[in-house]
Amino acid sequence: MPGARSFPEDDWRRGPHVLHNPMTALNPHAALRALPKAELHLHLEGTIEPATVVELAASHGVKLTEREALARYSYTDFRGFLDAFKWVTSFLREPADFALITRRMSEKLISQNVVYAEVFVAVGILLYRRQDVDAMFRAISDAGDEARKNGLHLRWIFDATRQFGPDAAMEVARWAARLKDHGVVAFGIGGEELSIPASAFRAVYEDVAAQGLHRHIHAGEVGGPQSVRDAINFLEVERIGHGIGVMHDPALMDSLAASQIPLEVCPSSNLFTGALARQRKNPSARIEDHPLRELYRRGLMISLGSDDPAMFHTSLDAEYDAGLRMGLTLNELVHIAAWGFVAAFLPSEEKAALLRAFHSKREALGL
Ligand SMILES: [Zn+2]
Repeated sequence: MPGARSFPEDDWRRGPHVLHNPMTALNPHAALRALPKAELHLHLEGTIEPATVVELAASHGVKLTEREALARYSYTDFRGFLDAFKWVTSFLREPADFALITRRMSEKLISQNVVYAEVFVAVGILLYRRQDVDAMFRAISDAGDEARKNGLHLRWIFDATRQFGPDAAMEVARWAARLKDHGVVAFGIGGEELSIPASAFRAVYEDVAAQGLHRHIHAGEVGGPQSVRDAINFLEVERIGHGIGVMHDPALMDSLAASQIPLEVCPSSNLFTGALARQRKNPSARIEDHPLRELYRRGLMISLGSDDPAMFHTSLDAEYDAGLRMGLTLNELVHIAAWGFVAAFLPSEEKAALLRAFHSKREALGL
């Protein structure tokens, strides 16, 4: 059962046993769509739809059909996904390209009632390609500020690429600190989880903390519980992307439930990259085999994310629908939606304001 919750705004419901709402007239899917939501695990470059890739390619003199682009969005393992990610991002060459994808992403989020999102920017890739981080990110940040007029509040997480090593990660961290005043709230590491151990990045995370930035990491996606333990022990991360590998370690699950270090769980992503099959040691694992329900009911703080929605043919709404298919109740998913705000890298007064708006809409919906 869920343990004590650390955030005072969150004690409105203490667990699934008290959650019952015969009053709502909406079906569960519609109710979840109508709620204001936060999205905490989303990669800007993973939101680029095939039609936009065609548009970007054309603007750089490369002829491509939507069918060809779509064919690139098909893979069966994590390596295949990373190759596709590399190919898509090869068409991001000018600030205007980044502004375009940020606008498209914002429209999509607004259409799903997402009011707050923390979005990863693959600064590790920008630096690897020797692109102008300052110019590209300002285009992103300006386009993001425009979205505020339509009710979407965006914040950014600068993401380093794990296999590029600690020196490259340190450079990303420094850029995050430099651009903090433009909405960068955290530094994180993604990429190939098993390539380099967490301990190698200790100095980078110390630097990040000293700069007043939050600490994030992708861990326990294809890696096991030790990968998550190392991230917590060596890097003192405050939130973990994926983390599903903890399902193999009851003591670690209980410790995460007690510490309330949130996991951003992205079920469709885990299915498409083969991470779920790997964790379950079952090549034909289905979404119903995902540990989301088990993790939630054990008391871990969970938020739902779509990760790279265009590349995994999903959306945040679709992830909530998947939650229902996995046997979570509507009320449990409403609780998870609230946690999206609780787990945000925002000052507590801003979080409280978002939570107040969330609860007032929830009540209006009879949830
Ligand atoms: Zn991710």
